[in-house]
Amino acid sequence: VGTVFAYLVAGDPLTLIDTGVGYPEARQALETGLLAKGYRLADIRRVLITHAHADHAGNAGWVQERSGAEVWIHPDEGRKLEQADWYREGRLAVMESSGMPPEEQAQIERYFRMGRAWQTLPSWRPLSDGQRLDFAGGQELEAVVLPGHALGHTGFRTGETLVGGDHLLRGITPNPIMEPVLPGHPDAVAHAPDRALTLGQFLRSLERVAALPLRLVLPGHGQPILDHRKVVREYEATHNRRLETVLSRLNGGRTAWEVTLLLYPRVTGFDRFLALSEVLAHLDLLVVRNRAALTGNLFAPK
Ligand SMILES: [Zn+2]
Ligand SMILES: [Zn+2]
Repeated sequence: VGTVFAYLVAGDPLTLIDTGVGYPEARQALETGLLAKGYRLADIRRVLITHAHADHAGNAGWVQERSGAEVWIHPDEGRKLEQADWYREGRLAVMESSGMPPEEQAQIERYFRMGRAWQTLPSWRPLSDGQRLDFAGGQELEAVVLPGHALGHTGFRTGETLVGGDHLLRGITPNPIMEPVLPGHPDAVAHAPDRALTLGQFLRSLERVAALPLRLVLPGHGQPILDHRKVVREYEATHNRRLETVLSRLNGGRTAWEVTLLLYPRVTGFDRFLALSEVLAHLDLLVVRNRAALTGNLFAPK
């Protein structure tokens, strides 16, 4: 993804939104950026995290250690930082049921273990949708929960500006990454309740953000977005096309992994998990929309 942005809100309490990867270079960049604005790491009082991916939350624990700052994150994301057993087991179960071979699953698990090393675990407080984060002088940020790319992905809005994390990125469609969920999660897939309907969430979050009167979206990666509704329409068109493409590859019935290999034959390494996530997200939505059916682990057109 290249560069990742952390945003400083220069109010009282001094607030940092996202923290970068847990690499020495990223830590140095964070300290240099703060210094350029006249602050030190120790001055940070509050950290807001858009989502638990290592490029956004990686330094949260490190910043907390050096500053004593409160770290706020949506509980669906905070739980991922804790690397609970159910999350890993749930991920394995979904990879297994999608038809991914065991050696591929083992390779993906190695990447997840490696990712853990780039992340330090803070103690965190739960953010909720609509929560107001106050500053001295009456200013505030509002938490806007925008799930899809990640289960509890959250943006932070003040007036017509949204710090949007990875929900809207110029020139890239964020991947609806597969998310195992605990029983009873409101966005669990009806036909496979151990995972979330990530593309359904993402499309709903696009509608939500399109309805907001924004002039500026500050993304986690790439250029600021001045025309958020245009990006939303492009994303919707991309996913509608992809739904048809995925449907056209089902023939008489295929596993999610077989469709992944057909559509993304050249991807390697961790990208294979992202490709499987992309395919599974579209397959699940096709079933929910009654265009496909899942029998055993085979998806077939209806
Ligand atoms: Zn992300
Ligand atoms: Zn990111």
